[in-house]
Amino acid sequence: MKLNRFIAICMMCMAFVCTTAKQRKAVYVVVDGIPADYIDRLQPPVIGSIGAQGHYAHAYTGGEPNEYSATPTVSAIGYTNILTGTWMNKHNVNGNSNLSPRYNYWTIFKVAKEQKRNYTTGLFSSWIDNRTVLIGEGKPETGNVKIDFVADGFELDTINFRRRKDDLHIFDIDSLVCRKAAESIRTDAPDLSWVYLWYTDSGFHLYGNSQFMDYYVLRTDAQLQQIWEAVKYREANFDEEWMVIITTDHGRTDNGYGHGGQTDRERSVWIATNVKQVNQHFASATLSLVDIHPTLCRWMGFEVPKERSWELDGIPFIGKTDIADLTSEVNDGKITLKWASDASNNRATIYMATTNNFANGGHDKWEKVGTTSARNEQFTIDLAKYPASKFYKFAVVTKNNHLTRWYIPK
Ligand SMILES: [Zn+2]
Repeated sequence: MKLNRFIAICMMCMAFVCTTAKQRKAVYVVVDGIPADYIDRLQPPVIGSIGAQGHYAHAYTGGEPNEYSATPTVSAIGYTNILTGTWMNKHNVNGNSNLSPRYNYWTIFKVAKEQKRNYTTGLFSSWIDNRTVLIGEGKPETGNVKIDFVADGFELDTINFRRRKDDLHIFDIDSLVCRKAAESIRTDAPDLSWVYLWYTDSGFHLYGNSQFMDYYVLRTDAQLQQIWEAVKYREANFDEEWMVIITTDHGRTDNGYGHGGQTDRERSVWIATNVKQVNQHFASATLSLVDIHPTLCRWMGFEVPKERSWELDGIPFIGKTDIADLTSEVNDGKITLKWASDASNNRATIYMATTNNFANGGHDKWEKVGTTSARNEQFTIDLAKYPASKFYKFAVVTKNNHLTRWYIPK
C-alpha cells in the first residue's frame, strides 16, 4: 500500500512538472498587404515550413460589409484589428494618419502589462507609428504603457536609409528590423513581441501583381528565416514553448496595386502558425484578423476582465470553444441572435447592455436576458419588454468562449 501511494505521489509530481515546465512565449509578424492567393501560388518556403509544422489557413479582414463593423482594408486599421481584437467601430483607427485610437480597447501589449506577472514585450517595426500612435507608448490614455525591447524609427533616418529606386530603402529597413528581432528573440526572448515589415505593400503599390512582386514576396519570406531560426534556437536551448504567427493586414485589388475596399481579394488575408493544436475555428470560413488577440491571450494565459473580454470581436483559434459566428435578425421588435455550435451541451447565457460607456472608459450594465443550450444555436429577445434604446449590445457566453454583437435600430 505504501509503495502504491509513493508511486501515485511520484506520478502526480511528474504530471505537475510536465504541465508547468515550459514557459510560453509568442511572436507575431505582419508582412504588409500580401493577398492569400499570392501565398498559395508562390508557396514561400519559410511561411510554408511554419505552416507545415502547425497550420496555414485563409482568413478575412474588413469586418462585416455594409454593417456596423465594416472596416476599410487599410494598413494601420488592419494592424489595429490585430492589436485590439476589435473592428474599427470600436478601436476608431480609420486610416494611416491623424489617428485617434480609442485606447480603452486595449492592445495586446496593454493586456500583457496589466497582468500580475511581469511579462516582457518587444516591437521590431519598419513604421514607428505602430508604437507611438497605435500602441500609444507612454501616453497617459494608455496608462503610459511601455515596450521593453524596441527596434524601430529607421524610416526617419534619411541619411542611413536614403531613398532608393522602387522604395527599396524600405526593404533595407525590413532587413534590419528582422535582424534586430532575431537578435532580441535569441538574447532577450520577450514574452510577447510583434514584428512589422513594410516593403511588400510598397512594392505592390508600384508594380501590382508582377514578377517583381513574386520576387519580393519570396525575398521577404527569406528574411523571416532568421526569426524562425531564433525561435527554434530558444526552444532547443531553453525551457520555452513559442507560438509564431505570420499574417498580413489586408489583401489587394484584383490588379494588385491598391487596397482599402471590400472586394473579396482586398478582404482576403491568411494566417500561418507553428502551433499544432488549433481548434475547428482555425479552418472555418470565419477565421479573421480579430481572432489573433484572443488567441495570444489564451496562449499566454493572460487574464482579461469580463467587461473587457466581452468587447472582443474575435475568438481564440486554440483551445476549446463552444460557439462561433454570431449573427442577428430583427422582426416585429424581436431580435433573434444566431450562432454556430460544435454540438456543445454547454449552456449559453445571453446578456444585453443598452449603453456603450465602455468606449469612453466608463462601464455598462450587462443584464442577463436568458439562457439556452448552446446547441440550440439561437435565442430571441422581445425588445418591447425592455426600455426603448437607440443602441444595444449583446454577449452570448458559454463555458469555453463568448461572442458579441451590436444592434443599432435604424
Ligand atoms: Zn498594409
